[in-house]
Amino acid sequence: MSRPVIATIDLQALGHNLQVVRRAAPKSKVWSVVKANAYGHGLDRVWRALGTTDGFAMLNLEEAILLRERGWKGPILMLEGFFHADELPLYDKYRLTTSLHSNWQINALQNARLQAPLDIYLKVNSGMNRLGFMPERVYTAWQQLRSLANVGEITLMSHFAEAERMDGVSQPMARIEQAAEGLDAPRSLANSAATLWHPQTHFDWVRPGIVLYGASPSGVWQDVATSGIHPVMTLSSEIIAVQTLKAGEAVGYGCRYRASAECRIGVVACGYADGYPRIVPSGTPVMVEGVRTGIVGAVSMDMLTIDLTPCPQAGIGSPVELWGNAVKIDEVAAAAGTVGYELMCALAPRVPVVTV
Ligand SMILES: *Cc1c(COP(=O)(O)O)cnc(C)c1O
Repeated sequence: MSRPVIATIDLQALGHNLQVVRRAAPKSKVWSVVKANAYGHGLDRVWRALGTTDGFAMLNLEEAILLRERGWKGPILMLEGFFHADELPLYDKYRLTTSLHSNWQINALQNARLQAPLDIYLKVNSGMNRLGFMPERVYTAWQQLRSLANVGEITLMSHFAEAERMDGVSQPMARIEQAAEGLDAPRSLANSAATLWHPQTHFDWVRPGIVLYGASPSGVWQDVATSGIHPVMTLSSEIIAVQTLKAGEAVGYGCRYRASAECRIGVVACGYADGYPRIVPSGTPVMVEGVRTGIVGAVSMDMLTIDLTPCPQAGIGSPVELWGNAVKIDEVAAAAGTVGYELMCALAPRVPVVTV
């Protein structure tokens, strides 16, 4: 490995974050959400660190099959269900629990030839308006499913559009209550935000994703700072060159930063082709040898530049943390106008990954 950029995955932190979730929802079982290759952390790399979970939730068949092949025998929930009827034999073979959100899926289930019934997560549209049945349709959909030989246990499922807001679940909860009326159904509603902040949503199974990876569902680290979760992914690199700018000189493409006085600039081997967001402004935090400083100028494909004024001891070879324990991924995401989820998922394949 010659180029020094590297992503480090802290498996202990992952296991610890699952414990934080368990303490937050002590009466619920936990679906650990590992979609999108475990939020960019590498499903194959990390799933064993979550091995005490009650189940894994994801949405790619390939990922579900991988878990089965690696020996996971517990429940697997497919969050968007089958995309085509011809996937049902694989759901049968690998014993996958399927979300069910549309009428055509009920017909497909009815017509499938399965060895054993499949457990179903019947999805209620509680206001997100992406997937799910309207509350007034849920009762009849439930009855239809109940009558099918291919259907095992049925759980009501819904997903919140703004559980990170203090008043973000009351309207959806009212819709879910309406949908559940007359049904003696287990429920799974809570994403990370609802798991942390809305205990009335916990019910039988919670479905945390982002908190397991140690970032905030609100996009603001302060919101989870006292929750006890630890960042799992650290993106780090090194300074590979140092420049001294005179007052008035610029650095990088577009001359987006101009020195107001003489200053030292560190050139770091990490750029947008590694998954670091190009759009961040000057001042976006980085950590150099234990000192916080900021990015100056434009992030380029393979490099970015940082102000070494606060850390005169730093030079070629100094370690730089782009995000991790010292600089939270939420801070970088906020500077880029996005959320930690996107940055994790966008870690580029060219970045070598190690686990500790
Ligand atoms: C992604 C996802 C989750 C987890 O969401 P987080 O905000 O990462 O906790 C839960 N449920 C469903 C249906 C999802 O798609």
